[in-house]
Amino acid sequence: MRNLIVGSAWLSPIALIILWQRAPILGLAIMALSHAAWLYATLRANVQWLGPVITRFETNAREVWLTIDDGPTSDTPAILDLLQASRVAATFFVKGALAAKNGDLVRAIIERGNNVANHSDDHPSGAFWRLLPAEIARQIDRCNATLQSLTSTRPIWFRAPVGMKNPAVHPALEQRGMRLIGWSVRGLDTVRSDPADVATRIVPRAQPGSIIVLHQGRQNSLACLQRVISDLQAQGYAFVIPADERLKTKR
Ligand SMILES: [Zn+2]
Repeated sequence: MRNLIVGSAWLSPIALIILWQRAPILGLAIMALSHAAWLYATLRANVQWLGPVITRFETNAREVWLTIDDGPTSDTPAILDLLQASRVAATFFVKGALAAKNGDLVRAIIERGNNVANHSDDHPSGAFWRLLPAEIARQIDRCNATLQSLTSTRPIWFRAPVGMKNPAVHPALEQRGMRLIGWSVRGLDTVRSDPADVATRIVPRAQPGSIIVLHQGRQNSLACLQRVISDLQAQGYAFVIPADERLKTKR
């Protein structure tokens, strides 16, 4: 599918030239559609056209995976206290550049029974979709190197900034034996930070095997995490970090 999308986008100008005399509208339509497919698959999180995106995990139990993005930030110790008090383990998708400056926070995340994964080096939210392959590789490798030096383990999971993945992302991950992690439900807590609103977006949509994404480093991050954890626990959900072989690409 990736080759089809990328190939047709590259070849569509040739179709336009061939069709220009007899059917210019058709030629333009082919070019627009092929580029639209490329853009849609790149910008729309969890769309699998360019390669597999993990969107849930296999389970027979009432359990979910909590993932916390954009740290490590100064609220990390308070979040770790909350997780421990709630008997919750979570995966922190961290930015490499922040991790390099806050090695003590990364080590605390691990020591308290959680794990860390790669969320790019400096999180170029507005530009990640159009980065060239060498720049994508740099974003992945710098974060991996920082986390490996801090934890002695190389991350196997990558979450793209804002979920964007252009055609260079999957080949880079495949070369490194890594997987692209999306989500099942998100609270949009960076847009609407009221904890009750965030919980309303997540809790009714959660199912066994759901991957939940929340953020840290915002004013209400701790309150949002607290609310979502307690509401899901009230519904009988446990929080686990699934083994890699349990991860699935279909909802
Ligand atoms: Zn992020």
